[in-house]
Amino acid sequence: MSLTVVGSIAFDAVKTPFGERERMLGGAATHFSLAASFFTEVRPVGPVGEDFGAAEFAVLEARGIRTDDIERVPGGKSFFWRGHYEYDLNVAHTDDTQLGVFAEFEPKLSEASRSADTLFLANIQPDLQRQVRAQCGSAGLSGLDSMNLWIETARDSLVAAVAEVDCLVVNDAEIRMLTGESNLARAARAVMAMGPRAVIAKQGEYGAALFTGEGFFALPGFPLEDVRDPTGAGDSFAGGFFGYLDGLGREPGEAELRQAMGYGTVLASFNVEEFGTERVARLSREEIDERFEQLRAMTQFEGLASAAE
Ligand code: AMP
Repeated sequence: MSLTVVGSIAFDAVKTPFGERERMLGGAATHFSLAASFFTEVRPVGPVGEDFGAAEFAVLEARGIRTDDIERVPGGKSFFWRGHYEYDLNVAHTDDTQLGVFAEFEPKLSEASRSADTLFLANIQPDLQRQVRAQCGSAGLSGLDSMNLWIETARDSLVAAVAEVDCLVVNDAEIRMLTGESNLARAARAVMAMGPRAVIAKQGEYGAALFTGEGFFALPGFPLEDVRDPTGAGDSFAGGFFGYLDGLGREPGEAELRQAMGYGTVLASFNVEEFGTERVARLSREEIDERFEQLRAMTQFEGLASAAE
């Protein structure tokens, strides 16, 4: 099984009430790949600049991520994002976005990336997402993430990209913005009318909700006492979700989608405990499975023996 992902591969400058970093490894495809690497073979696709060095590649390669389709552009500058979070970490502000080498990027995927079983179009300009989608015709499962910037500046391209995937994974506010529907259930239905069979609404620390033609499922965020940097939580969620599904090696049913929601929730929770990729880069599969069991126990409400009985 293998999973191809296109999206930003970046340097981030981030300030939260609990600390700051002036320059750290980031990007939607980076966070996604690290999370998915615990379940399957991952191939991120995208350009980086000359500033992206051996240390950055090493973080990915240490997790077995296949970096052959990360193109290092001579003289180029990597995607750069600067943002900060309020005391309520659910409120994020973008202070600067520099596309760098992504401005000129024309995806040409290797045979290995093109023949992936699963494809994730992580957050990046939607025309690039579509170019990659067109090259990965054999993917049995595909997903897409986006953000307010692209809804505002490239709406038509984004709607066309959404129509070409099985599952949309975006923040609840972005689903409302994309569809013009304030009610989330109606907004999810409007997205499904565009093409996708499933919609995941990410809700920050409150968790994530899954809408499909067959029903609804939701999980809370894993309760944590120490959250330092929420950057990449959504991408880590998607990496856990699609990584688990790809690793299964069969078409997922409703039950597998719910398990995948659990793995997404767990990966996102580890990601926010430290800045950038710091925590997930040294995570183990045992830690993931342990937290998955804790989440399962926490969210079970049927069949528990009551102390009064
Ligand atoms: P998340 O916190 O999951 O929404 O993702 C944060 C990551 O997305 C950061 O590491 C950024 O480098 C990246 N990012 C921020 N803005 C954009 C953008 N406009 N397009 C693509 N990636 C972005």
